[in-house]
Amino acid sequence: MGEGSGVDLLAALRKSPAMTDPAPLRLFNSLTRQLEEFQPVHPGEARVYSCGPTVYNYPHIGNMRAYVFADILGRTLSFKGYRLTHVINITDVGHLTDDADAGEDKMEKMAAEKAQSIWDIAQHYTQAYWADIRALNIRQPAQWTIATEYVPQMIEFARRIADKHCYELDSGLYFDVSTVADYGRLARTRTEEGEGRIEAVDGKRNAADFAIWRKTPPGEKRQMEWDSPWGRGAPGWHLECSVMSGEVLGFPFDIHTGGIDHREIHHPNEIAQNQAFCCTNGLDLPANSGARVWMHNNFLVERSGKMSKSAGEFLRLQLLIDKGYHPLAYRMMCLQAHYRSELEFSWDGLGAALVRLKRLVMAVAQLKERGDAAPAPGPRFAAFLERFDAAISDDLNTSVALTVLDEVIALKKVDPGEKLAAIAAMDAVMGLGLLEIERADLRIRPKAATIAEVEIDAILAQRKAARADKDFARSDALRDELAGRGVEVMDGDPLGWEWKL
Ligand code: AMP
Ligand code: ZN
Repeated sequence: MGEGSGVDLLAALRKSPAMTDPAPLRLFNSLTRQLEEFQPVHPGEARVYSCGPTVYNYPHIGNMRAYVFADILGRTLSFKGYRLTHVINITDVGHLTDDADAGEDKMEKMAAEKAQSIWDIAQHYTQAYWADIRALNIRQPAQWTIATEYVPQMIEFARRIADKHCYELDSGLYFDVSTVADYGRLARTRTEEGEGRIEAVDGKRNAADFAIWRKTPPGEKRQMEWDSPWGRGAPGWHLECSVMSGEVLGFPFDIHTGGIDHREIHHPNEIAQNQAFCCTNGLDLPANSGARVWMHNNFLVERSGKMSKSAGEFLRLQLLIDKGYHPLAYRMMCLQAHYRSELEFSWDGLGAALVRLKRLVMAVAQLKERGDAAPAPGPRFAAFLERFDAAISDDLNTSVALTVLDEVIALKKVDPGEKLAAIAAMDAVMGLGLLEIERADLRIRPKAATIAEVEIDAILAQRKAARADKDFARSDALRDELAGRGVEVMDGDPLGWEWKL
């Protein structure tokens, strides 16, 4: 949906009188805890790596917030004219049940529980994740890197840093965090403070040291294991992202993204490995961390606390869809908040986001009835596009950008084709599918509903006729019939929605 349109529209905008004064793109770098003007490593290009899911289970909608955020970042970079190379990885080996090097491999554990092959499990949940990516109108990255396809490169990377930065224990090859300057700066912790959050392993030199290669214990056989100079085993999770990002994008690349939890352990460890690999020293030069800018989205939370795949109702995107919500209502919900703010999920909030999306889609439908989009928005829209650009360039302020979109929608006495072009330009960044989805797509229709839509429409037509004849008894009877089958007729709905299941 709307994939190529971003670039076409940008070209059109450049030629049009709109947007004469583009704003500089400023992004919040977690490494410096400051807003910084984006300066690409390679002129005209933007190279972005996003930590992808561990495919041992379905992603929850909190996980998907991380990819909506990465998508907005990517679309914004395209909108600003950068040639984007976005990479997202799929972790199909190595992520332990505890981020900090303890517990079992999540994939192995799930495979044992389900008595299935890890490869089948990875396949199944990768497909499920990709379905959510599509449903949320997240653009395909240039490349999905699958961890198990990079094991030789991981071994090579580890071999290169092993002598100076690592030591071997019975359980694996460990990275000595005291061998790099500024370890933990990203998390704002120092090595000694790592204690407590990391399970003790006999022989570790520093509490924060982590395994980059995990040996298979003697007498055990893992489903996923490879030979290495440190014995048969599997790569550590942190190693994977360092290797895949460096391999595909080259060090230093521009931006590394992930959820805020990764700011604490996973990314500091990646940074330490990158420093070791690139033979750089301290982190005062941002390029020394492997990526110049590290960006983190805050969490989606439930009222009861942190979202989890194991506790309570498992909030998958499919659950929202089964309850009748269009998945883009969830995207709208994400965009209403700033990515660095915590966002609380509620069904009411989702309902409100759906109504907001409906308003936009209905306004677009009315415009479409009056003709096609113009090749570009005219001068009348320049100030709006500039404000939209200023908002999105201000560390991806999507909530302000949405209000500018609302203002454009509300404009009276403007050329409808040009207005459509302005909306399309903004939606190339927001990705709400405004020109593609239809009002009917946004009706709440739970999977459990037992009545077909054509039938509802037929009964509603009879009811309309009855009302035209002032036969209110029949009109009410038809309304009751629908109610009996779970269809609520909404006469007073300001949006003109005739029914809801
Ligand atoms: P995982 O599959 O656990 O590696 O997580 C995939 C992505 O989702 C990572 O970038 C996490 O930081 C992010 N993430 C995990 N939980 C949440 C949440 N509740 N809200 C937002 N992002 C999250
Ligand atoms: Zn990662």
